[in-house]
Amino acid sequence: MRQWLERGLEAWGLRLNEVQWLCFERLTELMLTWNERINLTAITQPERIAIEHYLDSLAPLAFGLIGDGMSVVDIGTGAGFPGLPLAILCPFAAFTLVEATGKKVAYLRQVVAQLGLANVEVVQGRAEALAHDRRFREGFDVAVARALGRLDVVLECTLPFVKIGGCAVAYKGPRADEELPFGERAAAMLGGRIEAVHRFPLPNTELQRRLVVARKIAPTPPRFPRRPGIPEKRPLGD
Ligand code: SAH
Repeated sequence: MRQWLERGLEAWGLRLNEVQWLCFERLTELMLTWNERINLTAITQPERIAIEHYLDSLAPLAFGLIGDGMSVVDIGTGAGFPGLPLAILCPFAAFTLVEATGKKVAYLRQVVAQLGLANVEVVQGRAEALAHDRRFREGFDVAVARALGRLDVVLECTLPFVKIGGCAVAYKGPRADEELPFGERAAAMLGGRIEAVHRFPLPNTELQRRLVVARKIAPTPPRFPRRPGIPEKRPLGD
C-alpha cells in the first residue's frame, strides 16, 4: 500500500515523511474496522484505498491549490475525504470537516484523536445551514468537496464558505465536462467564476479525474445557500 501511495505522489513531486505514512496506515486500520459497523466506504482493498481515496484526495497539492497558513473546509467529507489526507500532508493548514451524518462524525472525531491531528476540526451539520452561521460564512481560503452532487449543487454548498479571493475546488470524474454549463451559471449567481478545470489521470492508473476551481470574486448573496435539500432538488444551473 505504501508503494502505491508513494509512487503516485512522486509523480506529483510530493513525498511522505515517516509520521505521515504511519497516519495513513492507522487511518486505514480504523476505517476498515469501523466499516464493519457503519457504512464508510465500498473500497476495502488497500491498494485501491491508497489510489482512489488517498491519492485522489491529495490532487489539489499537485496544482498548488492549498498551502501553509490556509484555512480549508471540506463539505460532505463522509469518511474524511478529501479532508483527512490533505490534513495529514499539510500540517500548517487548518481543516474543518463538515458532515451531516452523526455516525460518520463520531468516526471522524475518533480518527482525529487517534492520529493526533491538531489541525482538524469536525463539525456536524448541513452545509446549507452552516453556511449561514457567522463563524463559517466567507471564513475559508478554500472549500473542497468530493462526490457531493452535480457541479451547480456543489458550488451552492461550497462557495458561500469561501472568502473573496479564495476558491472552491470540486473533485469530479470526466462527467465534470458536461456539468460545466450548469456550474458556470451557478457560480455567477453565487459570486464566483470558474477559473480552471484540471484534467488528469491519477498517476499510474487510467482513472480520469477533474478538479474544477471556482474563484470567489464577490460576496455570495444572503439568500444562498437555499434551505437544506433545495440545492439538489432545484439546482441553480437548470
Ligand atoms: N466526500 C466523501 C463522501 C461523499 S458521500 C468522499 O468523497 O468519499 C457524500 C457525503 O456528504 C455523505 O457522507 C453525506 O452524509 C454528506 N452530505 C451530503 N449532503 C450534505 C450537506 N448538504 N451537508 C453536509 N453533508 C452532506
